[in-house]
Amino acid sequence: MATTLDDLPIRDDLRGQSPYGAPQKHVRVQLNVNENTHPVPQDVADDIVESIRQALRTVNRYPDREFTELRHSLAAYLGHGLTAEQLWAANGSNEVLQQLLQAFGGPGRSVLGFPPTYSMHSILASGTGTTWIPAQRDDEFRISPETVVAAVREHQPDIVFLCGPNNPTGTPLSIDTVRAAYDATDGIVMVDEAYAEFMPADVPSAVSLLPGRERLVVSRTMSKAFAFAGARVGYLAADPAVIDAIRLVRLPYHLSALTQAAAVAALRHAPEMLAMVDDIKEQRDRMVTELGAMGYRTYETWSNFVLFGGVADPNAAFEALLDQDVIVRDLGIPNHLRVSAGTEEETTAFLDAMRRVAADQP
Ligand code: PMP
Repeated sequence: MATTLDDLPIRDDLRGQSPYGAPQKHVRVQLNVNENTHPVPQDVADDIVESIRQALRTVNRYPDREFTELRHSLAAYLGHGLTAEQLWAANGSNEVLQQLLQAFGGPGRSVLGFPPTYSMHSILASGTGTTWIPAQRDDEFRISPETVVAAVREHQPDIVFLCGPNNPTGTPLSIDTVRAAYDATDGIVMVDEAYAEFMPADVPSAVSLLPGRERLVVSRTMSKAFAFAGARVGYLAADPAVIDAIRLVRLPYHLSALTQAAAVAALRHAPEMLAMVDDIKEQRDRMVTELGAMGYRTYETWSNFVLFGGVADPNAAFEALLDQDVIVRDLGIPNHLRVSAGTEEETTAFLDAMRRVAADQP
């Protein structure tokens, strides 16, 4: 008989849990994990490979533990007068968030979140022994300064996690809400801005609130707009003291020399890497319009994906789409599915497949 987890002296709180992760299926139209479905342009890829080639020559040595060049590049990319001392990076923003929880959460501490939101927030809380406190969104999945302040006052969390735009709903998060949350707590306020580049261009990011707010943290990623999900680079901007705190829990040399070289090279080509953002937003808006015309309920979205309701049987619709070589995401929200915006061709394939699903729906 094969050994199972139950046979092992595993932590009690991990018993019976399953690992997070969407199915990784090889399907023609993959719109399930909010990736940028446009590949990195060849000339940029060539330059990245050249940087990796150079980095390999000294790969016998440990990498720069402080990834100084990358932090300078990220500060320049984010703008807002940020300096390298205010930037920190890791292998995906998931790792950044985990490090933040390791430093500011942990046993006896709590983090307040507003589900439905990015599922890793509660999983990272659990993995770091931090108590996850779920608070409410309204019927449109929105949160306001009033609802956030009320939840902070009620629960007195050590950390507040906000997600703007929110995954999986796409819901905008106003900086008034971030400001109000910050003023209502003495704890850390972390704003997950993984999808910031898909927001309307004239809307301010929470990064603009950083000056004078030493407990505010804004996390970002190169996985989405930047078309760099496979390279695993996420980062945060905060007061340098927050970064000193994270240094206490990070593994030394956590960011490989090859990752650092690849990320710095990609950031040199930021405009080209981000060239598809407008097109993706256009496809997202097309999805909202056409799904609405098919009778599905859609929500305001500022990200690269669309949550839609009115799906009689999400599991059956998921399978019917899969039969047509299209994969979307069933997040367990009753009567809802989520789909990432693809290229024009992928978006058309999804919408055509969805029309067939709608025709079959009772
Ligand atoms: N935050 C949010 C809101 C996300 O949706 C995701 C990815 N789905 C992440 C963080 C993590 O992204 P990564 O680790 O690739 O940076």
